[in-house]
Amino acid sequence: MSLSSVQSTLSTLKSCQADLGGCMDMVSDVALGIVEAQGMDNSPALKKLEEMILECSRLDREINCFVESVDEMTAQVRHEPPEAMVHLRNSVKERFNELMAGVTDADLQRHSKVVAFRDSVRKYAMQAGQSAAENEEEELDEDIAVTQSQTNFICPLTQVEMVNPMKNKKCHHYYDQEAVLEMIKARHKNKKKFRCPKVGCGNTDVQQSDLELDLVMKRMIQNHKRQSGKT
Ligand SMILES: [Zn+2]
Repeated sequence: MSLSSVQSTLSTLKSCQADLGGCMDMVSDVALGIVEAQGMDNSPALKKLEEMILECSRLDREINCFVESVDEMTAQVRHEPPEAMVHLRNSVKERFNELMAGVTDADLQRHSKVVAFRDSVRKYAMQAGQSAAENEEEELDEDIAVTQSQTNFICPLTQVEMVNPMKNKKCHHYYDQEAVLEMIKARHKNKKKFRCPKVGCGNTDVQQSDLELDLVMKRMIQNHKRQSGKT
């Protein structure tokens, strides 16, 4: 085993981790579909999905612990004679077990995507309940509501309806994922800050870590599209 092969394994693992994140978003999206179809009253399917997302959270933790233990242990042997490499496997294993033993259930629950899962299920159930109640009332304000929601669905960068809306946790504005990530990357490459493009917003330094995919919003946009018949 050489250090370079260790590094390439680590980078493969990191791309697995990115896929895992996408997988967690997908689980959340399926959960929203269930809420939409049958509400959230003690749905066994919803419970199952929650177990799945916690399992993903655990895998994500495992990868982090593994990467951390490899980083620590390879740093230690880097300047030692090649024989030291022989023990690398065991020392990584030991350190990994140590780190994993420190992972609690609360840590798994705290994972940002687990939190997002719960938030979006709750938010979407409320939203669905609300619009059902509104539908029972007279639909006088419908036109106004549609115009309002349409403007909210427009990305301030692309000026078209968003596909993957990302919410800025700091100023609460929305942008389409692809456009905003590209923009931030381009600005940062030129050593410039990226200012929130929403008119009147005072947020002058938007970081990628401030942004979070909003699956509830995504679903609302999809439903709106379907209703207005431009699928
Ligand atoms: Zn803003």
